[in-house]
Amino acid sequence: MPKRTETTMADLLRKRSLKVTRLRLAMLAILQKAKDPVGAPEIFKAAKSAGANYVTVYRAINAMEKSGIIRRVNLRHNHNDYELQNEKDHHHLICKTCGKVEEFETCPSAEFAKRILAQSKSFASIDDHALEFFGQCKGCAKKIRSKSPHVSKSR
Ligand SMILES: [Zn+2]
Ligand SMILES: [Zn+2]
Ligand SMILES: [Zn+2]
Repeated sequence: MPKRTETTMADLLRKRSLKVTRLRLAMLAILQKAKDPVGAPEIFKAAKSAGANYVTVYRAINAMEKSGIIRRVNLRHNHNDYELQNEKDHHHLICKTCGKVEEFETCPSAEFAKRILAQSKSFASIDDHALEFFGQCKGCAKKIRSKSPHVSKSR
């Protein structure tokens, strides 16, 4: 697969009839560079230091999300996280303690969606899904274990 350059990001915007601005290209570049979804505060900070104001950034995020260029992920980080939509169908493992994110591509959802749809009385189609898993990363699990005193069951 060819690496996406700024030109193809611009093409992406044009294809969805969105205005190509330096701000939008910069925002897409941030998401493209990041391995994990990027938090809204981080996007705002980067955009602000590039001279954009809050409303412009907010509108850009909304427009790009609506047109399907970027995708909002709910990592329960107390803010929205975003990633490029053009990635493969994948899902996230999130550490509830430190917020670490890991992606995985195994997805049983196609089969699952068929079953859900077959049981649904009011839905005609399912065309998207969100599936995130929450737990403890190995580092945090170790810390928690070493911090907690030895607990004996009998008192
Ligand atoms: Zn992701
Ligand atoms: Zn952790
Ligand atoms: Zn999936």
